[in-house]
Amino acid sequence: MSEPVLALKNIVKTFGSFKATDDVSLELFPGEIHALIGPNGAGKSTLIGQISGSLRSNSGQVYLNGRDISALSVAKRASLGLGRSFQVSSLALEYSARRNVMLAIQARQGSVYRFWQPVSKDLDAIQQAQSILEKVGLGDRSEIVVSELSHGEKRQLEVACALALKPVCFLLDEPMAGLGPEGTEKLIGFLDQLRSEAPILLIEHDMDAVFRLADRISVLVYGRIIMTGSAKEIASSKEVQSAYLGSEPAC
Ligand code: ADP
Ligand code: MG
Repeated sequence: MSEPVLALKNIVKTFGSFKATDDVSLELFPGEIHALIGPNGAGKSTLIGQISGSLRSNSGQVYLNGRDISALSVAKRASLGLGRSFQVSSLALEYSARRNVMLAIQARQGSVYRFWQPVSKDLDAIQQAQSILEKVGLGDRSEIVVSELSHGEKRQLEVACALALKPVCFLLDEPMAGLGPEGTEKLIGFLDQLRSEAPILLIEHDMDAVFRLADRISVLVYGRIIMTGSAKEIASSKEVQSAYLGSEPAC
């Protein structure tokens, strides 16, 4: 089997005496979508924080392509290609969709570049931005100012900005949240393709999306992974059903 792109080894995070993540180990392999599911408060977002570096683990390690990144800052981890979760709030609302992607391209290329060529005149960046926008299905919306895009389109644009950073993996914390059925369907189709760009660690409440997309699913309950398996294995596990899926609506 190939080496994991991302590997967590026995990571622990406590808030006071409360263990939010408790000895979590997990691997993300090239080309896969690995979903992390679990009830509210299970520690999913805390885990993402420890991977991206916004939260420091009490113990354990995070490896990116075999390199221990546990002691590195958020910015350093991002520069190594750790794609952060999509956040609509990080878009520049007053700029066009294309300008937003170009700014992400410029961020990747570094500040030195900015001195000798304003990004708006950079034909290569314009072309790259346009091709990324086409990839996410916004090819014909590139001139539109972000504030005029629909919620679903903003999500697509945020994905485009994340792609422009050329990540080695994506960390997605509930990307479907707030999308209607149509937007969700579009995003499912898109994430399905996105896995060929870089593997995805997907936290998602929408179980239909998870079961359709995930190659493997890990179930987090009270900060511990109780099972990792295929969608079929997870759906038929008695332990998972009683601990999580049960008769309650999945969330
Ligand atoms: P999930 O994303 O699975 O819903 P979280 O990772 O957000 O869960 O939270 C896990 C637990 O850790 C929750 O009980 C939450 O209240 C607690 N928690 C999260 N962040 C903090 C914090 N900064 N300080 C104290 N407790 C926190
Ligand atoms: Mg959360």
